[in-house]
Amino acid sequence: MSVKVVKNFVNGSWVTSKSTRRQPVLNPATGEVLAEVPLSTKEDVDKAVQKAYEAFHEWRTTPPYTRARSMFKFKAKMEERFEELSRLVTLENGKTIDEARAEVRRAIENVELAAGIPTQIMGYNLEDVAQGIDETAIRQPLGVCASINPFNFPNMVPLWFLPVAVACGNTYITKPSPITPLSQELLYELLEECDIPDGVVNLIHGDEEVVNALIDHPLVRAVSFVGSSRVGKLVYERGAMAGKRVQAQGGAKNHMVVMPDANLPKTIATVMGSTYGCAGQRCLAGSVLITVGDIHKTVVEGVVEMSSKLRVGYGLNETTQMGPVITQQSLKRIQSFLERGQQEGAKLVLDGRYVKVADCPDGNFVGPSVFDNATPDMSIVKEEIFGPVLSVINVPDFESAIETLERSRYGNAASIFTQDGGYARDFKYRVRAGNIGVNIGVAAPVASFPFGGQKDSFFGDLHGQGPDAINFFTDRKVVIERWF
Ligand code: NAD
Repeated sequence: MSVKVVKNFVNGSWVTSKSTRRQPVLNPATGEVLAEVPLSTKEDVDKAVQKAYEAFHEWRTTPPYTRARSMFKFKAKMEERFEELSRLVTLENGKTIDEARAEVRRAIENVELAAGIPTQIMGYNLEDVAQGIDETAIRQPLGVCASINPFNFPNMVPLWFLPVAVACGNTYITKPSPITPLSQELLYELLEECDIPDGVVNLIHGDEEVVNALIDHPLVRAVSFVGSSRVGKLVYERGAMAGKRVQAQGGAKNHMVVMPDANLPKTIATVMGSTYGCAGQRCLAGSVLITVGDIHKTVVEGVVEMSSKLRVGYGLNETTQMGPVITQQSLKRIQSFLERGQQEGAKLVLDGRYVKVADCPDGNFVGPSVFDNATPDMSIVKEEIFGPVLSVINVPDFESAIETLERSRYGNAASIFTQDGGYARDFKYRVRAGNIGVNIGVAAPVASFPFGGQKDSFFGDLHGQGPDAINFFTDRKVVIERWF
C-alpha cells in the first residue's frame, strides 16, 4: 500500500517538497507507518518566506477586526473537528486521548486569546507632554515570523505563536517536528477555510536544514523555538547573530517539594499526574520529588503503590492512563537512564522496563519507574530523561530543599506541597523557575499569562502567550508631534 507523503503549504497551495530526503511518521503505540514527511530544502524555505513577505503589506493593512474574525472562524472549525484533532494527536504522539483532548482545548484557548487582538494591540497616548506636544505609543506588526516546534504537543505548541502573530498582522511560517507533522497539516487545512489571504500562513516540514534556512533568511524578522535546551541555545545564538528577535523555550527538570504538613493523599495523586502525564514527555512534568523530613517513607510507598497500578497502553483506548514514549530512541534513552541511576547508587524501587502491552508488541512502551535515595549530583536528577521516571530525594528541612532546587541548571517549573502559607510564600519568592505551583503539579499558565522558564530552560526575554506574545510579535514605536 502506498504511503501518503505530507505536503508543505505555501502561498495558499499544498505543494510537494523537491527534497529527496524523507522520513516515516510512526504511530508510537503500534509502529505503524502513518505517512512520510519530507525534510524540505533551503529552496522550499526561500519560496515560502518570499511569498509570506509579499503577503505582508496587504495583511498588515487589513483591519484588526477583520483579522480577528479569521481567528473566530479558526476557533469554530477547531471546535467542529475537536475529536478528530484530538485523535490525530494520539495517533502521531501516543499520549492518551484525554491528554490529547486537553491539549487541543489549550490550543483553542490560544486562538480565543488572539481573537481579542483589536483591544490587545492598542497603544496609548499622553497629551501635552510639553505645551502643544502630544506623545503616542503604537504597535506595528514585524513582517515574516516563524516557529520551530517539538514533538510533544504537536497541536498546541505551534498555536502558542501563530494565532497571536497572525492576528497582530504578521505573516507566518510553521515548522512542525518531523516526528509529528500531521496535527499541523490538519490545522492548516482548517486555516485554509478562514478567509486568510494566500501567503499569510505557510507550513514547511523538515529538520535542521529548514531551521537554519529560516533563521538565516534576511526576510524573517522573528523566530519562536520550543524544544530541548541544547537546540534552543543553538537557535538563540544563530538568531542573535543574524539580528533576529528570538524566543527559545528549552528543556526542563522540574522539582516538586513535599513538606511534612502537606495533604499527603492529594499530594501523591497530584504527583502521579505530574510525573506520568504524557508518559513524562512534558516540559512541565515533575521528575524530581523532594521529600522533607520523615514523611519520606509514606510518600515513596504511596507513589510506588499508585504508580504500579497505572494502566499503560494504547492511547486511543479510553481506559488507558499512560501511553507510549515517542520513539524507539527515546525508549532506549530512558532504559539507559534506569541503568545509570542504579550504577550511580539510587535504588530503583519500581522498574518499568518490563512492561508489556497486549495487542501492541511493537509500541515504545516503558512503565512508571521510581528511584529512591537519589542525590542532586546523579545524572537521573541533573539531566532531562523525558520519560515516566521519578527520582526521589530526601532532605531534612525546607532550606535544604531550596538548595537542592537551586543546583538544577533548569528552571521551567517547580512545585511545593504544603498547608503553610509561610513556606509557600518563601518558595514563590525565592525559587528560580518560570512557573511555580503551590499544591499544583503541572503549573501550566492559561493563554492569557506568559509561558516560559528561567535558567537554561529559556533563552530570550519575552515568553510565549499573554502580553509577552503581543510584545514579541509587534514593534513598539513612539510618535511625538506638534502642529504649527
Ligand atoms: P528538539 O530540540 O529535538 O527539537 C525541537 C525542534 O528543533 C524540532 O522542530 C527539530 O526538528 C528542531 N531541531 C532538532 N535538532 C536541531 C538542530 N541541531 N538544529 C536546528 N534545529 C533542530 O526537541 P523535541 O525532542 O522535539 O522536544 C522535546 C523537548 O522540548 C524537551 O526538552 C522538552 O522539555 C522541550 N519542550 C519545552 C517546552 C517549554 O515550553 N519550555 C515545551 C515543550 C517541549
